[in-house]
Amino acid sequence: MATNQQAKILRHPDEYDETIPNLTLTEYVLDKMREFGNDIACIDSDTKQSLSYNEICENILALAAGLQLKINLKPGEIVAVALPTCLEYSITVLALNLCGATSTLINPGQTISELTHCVQLTKPKLWVGTDSFSSKFSQLYPDVASRPPMILFGSKTSNELDYAGLIESGRGKTVQSVGNTPLDLDAFILFSSGTTGVPKGVVLTNLNYVVTRKQSLESTKISYRDPEDVTLFFMPLYHAATLNGLFECFMRGLRFVLMPNFTFELMLQSIQEFKITLMFLVPAIAVQLLKHPVEKHYDLTSLKMLRSGAAAISKETLVALAEKFGVLVLQLYGLTEATLCTHGNTFTYNRDGSIGVVAPFCESKIVDTETGEALGPNQEGEICVRGPIVMKGYIGNEAATKETVDTDGWLHSGDVGYYDDDGFFFITDRKKELIKFKGLQVSPTELEKILLGHPDIQDAAVAPVPDEAAGELPRAYIIKRPGSTVTENDIAKFIADQVSAHKRLRGGVVFVDSIPKTATGKIMRRQLKTIKSKL
Ligand code: AMP
Repeated sequence: MATNQQAKILRHPDEYDETIPNLTLTEYVLDKMREFGNDIACIDSDTKQSLSYNEICENILALAAGLQLKINLKPGEIVAVALPTCLEYSITVLALNLCGATSTLINPGQTISELTHCVQLTKPKLWVGTDSFSSKFSQLYPDVASRPPMILFGSKTSNELDYAGLIESGRGKTVQSVGNTPLDLDAFILFSSGTTGVPKGVVLTNLNYVVTRKQSLESTKISYRDPEDVTLFFMPLYHAATLNGLFECFMRGLRFVLMPNFTFELMLQSIQEFKITLMFLVPAIAVQLLKHPVEKHYDLTSLKMLRSGAAAISKETLVALAEKFGVLVLQLYGLTEATLCTHGNTFTYNRDGSIGVVAPFCESKIVDTETGEALGPNQEGEICVRGPIVMKGYIGNEAATKETVDTDGWLHSGDVGYYDDDGFFFITDRKKELIKFKGLQVSPTELEKILLGHPDIQDAAVAPVPDEAAGELPRAYIIKRPGSTVTENDIAKFIADQVSAHKRLRGGVVFVDSIPKTATGKIMRRQLKTIKSKL
C-alpha cells in the first residue's frame, strides 16, 4: 500500500543539483549579480532612470550597513515595506534581508481597515514608505508615542531615517553577519487568504527563497540570457510572482523595465519602446492582447517568450497567443504558500493547456478530495505539493497552518486537477473559496464580513462569476432586512468605500431569499452560481 501511494508522488523529470547554499537570499543573489558589472539591470519606464548591476550591489550593501549602524536593525525584526513600484524596492528588501530582517510587503494603496488587518497580523517594528503614504501611516498609528519609525523615500528633511541618508551612512562599512543558520530566518511575509477565510500572513523563510532561486536556475538549464533580452514587469511588486521575477532577472543578468503605473496602452508602449523580449503575463492581459488589434498600432515584434500564471488560462488562449505574436508561451502554476512555482512548462517539457511538470525541489500528488488517497494518472483530485518551497506557516494562526499543511508536510493547494500519463499536470477546478480578479486575490470571507456590518443586510455570501477579460468577478448575494429599501448600487458603493479597487463587487449584487448553507452553517458557494435574483 505504502509503495503504491509512493508511486503516485511525482517529481521533476530530470536530475538536478540538489545542494542548497547556506546563505541568505541576498547573499545568494549578490553572488550572481556581481558577474554582470556595469551592465544595465533595471529601468523605470516613466522616468527612464536606470541602475547598473554594480550600483544595485553597492546600494544593497550600503543600505544594509546603514540600517545596522543607524537603527541597529537585528535579525528577526519585522519591517513593513509599503512602497509603490520603484527601482529602490528590490534594493530595500534585499538590504533588509541581508540584515536578517523579515520584510512584510504591504500594498500601500489599501484602505485603512485593510492596512490595520496587516498590522495586526505582523506587528512591524519599522516601516519603509513614501511621503504620500505618511497620512495613512498617521491614521494607522494615531498615538504618536507608540508609532514605529518609518524610513522615508523622497523626504525633503534631513532625517536620520531618510533612505538616501541611510545609504550614505553605510557606504564602505561592513555588514554584520546574520549568523550560522541564515536559511532558518524568516525572509518575507506576504498575504494570502489560502483555502478559506480572510487574508493571512504567509511566512516564507530564506530556505524557501534560496531554493526557489535555485529551482529557477535548475528548471531551465539553458540560460536564456542574451544581451538583447529585456523583461517588463507591470504587476505590483508585493505579489509573490513579481518580486521573484526581479530576483530571477538579477541572477540571470537580465535587464528589466519596471512600470510604476499600469494601463494596457502604457504596457504596449513600453514593449515597443524598450524592445521587450520576455514577459510574465496574467491571463487577463493575455486575453486583452488577443482581442485587440495591438499589432496595428504598436511594433511588438521584439517579443520572444511569454509566461502566464497566477490564474487559469485556456489552451485556446495559449495557442492563439503563440500564433498571433510568433512567440513561445509557457504556462506556470504556483501559490504564495509555496513561495512561487510548483509546476511549470519549460523549454524541454511543454504541453499546451497544461501547467507543466513538477518543478525541481518539489514533490506533487493528486489526492481524492473525500478519502485523501493519492490518485494515479488521469484521475481528478486536489493538487498537493511538498518540499523546501512550502511556507513555514501563517503568522499567528496555527489552526489555519495545520489545515493547509498536513503532518507529512503536504501543502493542500485547494486547486483541483490531474496529471496525464507523461506527468504533465492540468488544472480543472478550484475547491477553495478564493476569487482571482486579474490574477489578484479576493477573499469572499473578507467581503462577507464587511457586508454583514451593513444595517440593511441580514445575511450575505460572495462567490465568483466568470469573466472573459478579468477571469473572475466577485458577486454578492444578499438577504435584505425586512422593509429595507437598500439598492444594489448602495451595497456596491458600501464595499467600494472600504476595500482596494480589485475587490469591488464588479460581478454585481443579487438580492435573494435564502443562502444555501451546510448543516454546520458553511456557505455552499458552488450552489450560489445557480441562484436567480429575487426580482
Ligand atoms: P497566489 O497565491 O495569489 O499566487 O494564488 C495562487 C492561486 O492562483 C492558485 O492556488 C490557483 O488557484 C491560482 N493559479 C495560479 N496559477 C494558476 C494557473 N496556471 N492555472 C490556474 N490557476 C492558477
